[in-house]
Amino acid sequence: VYQMKKKEEIKMKQKPKKYFWHPMTDTRASEQETIIIERGEGNYIFNDSGEKLLDAVGGLWCMNVGHNRKTVNDAISKQMNKLSYYQLFTNIAHPKAYELAEKIITLAENEDMAKVFFTSGGSDSVDTALKITRQYWEAVEKPKKKMFISLERAYHGMHYGGTSVGGNDLYRKFIGPTLEGCIQVSSPHKKNKWNCEDPEKLTQLCIEEIVEKIDYYGADNIAAFIMEPIQGAGGIIVPPESYWPAVREVCDQYDILLISDEVVTGFGRSGSMFGCRGWGVKPDVMVLAKGLSSGYIPMGATVFNQRIVNGIESAENGANIIIHGQTYSGHPLGCVAALEVLKIVENENLPQNAKEVGAYLLDLLKPIQSEYSEYITDVRGKGLMLAIDFEDAGNFSPEEITNNVQHVADYAISQGVLVRDELKTIIISPSLTFTKEDAKKVYTSLANGLESLR
Ligand code: PLP
Repeated sequence: VYQMKKKEEIKMKQKPKKYFWHPMTDTRASEQETIIIERGEGNYIFNDSGEKLLDAVGGLWCMNVGHNRKTVNDAISKQMNKLSYYQLFTNIAHPKAYELAEKIITLAENEDMAKVFFTSGGSDSVDTALKITRQYWEAVEKPKKKMFISLERAYHGMHYGGTSVGGNDLYRKFIGPTLEGCIQVSSPHKKNKWNCEDPEKLTQLCIEEIVEKIDYYGADNIAAFIMEPIQGAGGIIVPPESYWPAVREVCDQYDILLISDEVVTGFGRSGSMFGCRGWGVKPDVMVLAKGLSSGYIPMGATVFNQRIVNGIESAENGANIIIHGQTYSGHPLGCVAALEVLKIVENENLPQNAKEVGAYLLDLLKPIQSEYSEYITDVRGKGLMLAIDFEDAGNFSPEEITNNVQHVADYAISQGVLVRDELKTIIISPSLTFTKEDAKKVYTSLANGLESLR
């Protein structure tokens, strides 16, 4: 455990930022604030001064099997020496793509899932889902079905499609116009426009709103409903138990395809192999990345059910051709990394570990909501995706709230724990290999950080 140090001391050496911009970062951010990570081992990372930090961010909620796993590294290296790259365009393939596609379909625990389309990451996978669902409707000769429904607070990556269906206007502010025909509905969040605290009632209100929008725009014009099973970047919003099944029902009723964006929840993070399966729901499309290869090699996939596959493959109007793809779709290094990662996920039963350690950490953190109620308005999560919410803490201005969040996150760093501060929320999304001991360290560093605010 570190002694409390000044932020400048902790965050180490200055490095010139002359030649690159950080994603999602103020171009004028101070160089002293940069943390430079040089090495990773298990659930830990090491900065450029060799200081060890417990990685409670999991890279970017993607390092599901932890850092520097030998079997994954060896598999990548072996593949590298055999075939470091080949592509999948125009009926060319490599063996690992077949192997991984079969593995993903098997893991989906959904007999309707039929075909995988490989991509290079989450944003690619989202845009693939949006394009191919539109193509499906063209294929089955319902070409008017073009619109998408998504949730407020949604995050679906940074390509233009994902940005268009995203639920945060900030991401569209300077780069519009984005895609037309994207409708947003309320997030099933405790903080909702109805001030409804009863989960069942909240589901009902949300569904009524969805039905109103469908009636207004016309089901004949709507291609798909895209949703994260648990909203991640929007602040870890776990919907009421009845919400997902109810959304599936509405989609069936109005013949709207359901896309589950599992980029964060896929492969165990929420305590089941896929987030939507935690509610027993079968989507028509699953969007995957992050945990698929645990971040070892950039990798993504979009999975389509038999209905979509049949529609596209039997199209009479040319829509049977997939006119879409990336140079790195199904990169062989990504495929072997994913195959090895998924072996670990299964052998070590990481979804179950995420469930148990996540519940343990949530139990530890819950009491801080009342102990520090002047700062914290909610503690929530499912599996190993948890949030401590500072939003709307009555005594503070928005700037003060952001400062409080930063103070607690910085304090945690000074105690050797890296968490993610997202404006008004602290997010915890570690590797699924996290132990109860690791969870306790996270709790202690955050509780101490809160205490130091007083
Ligand atoms: N979808 C969701 C739900 C995400 O959380 C993310 C990234 O955090 C993406 C899509 C985009 O993935 P990527 O950053 O790999 O493009």
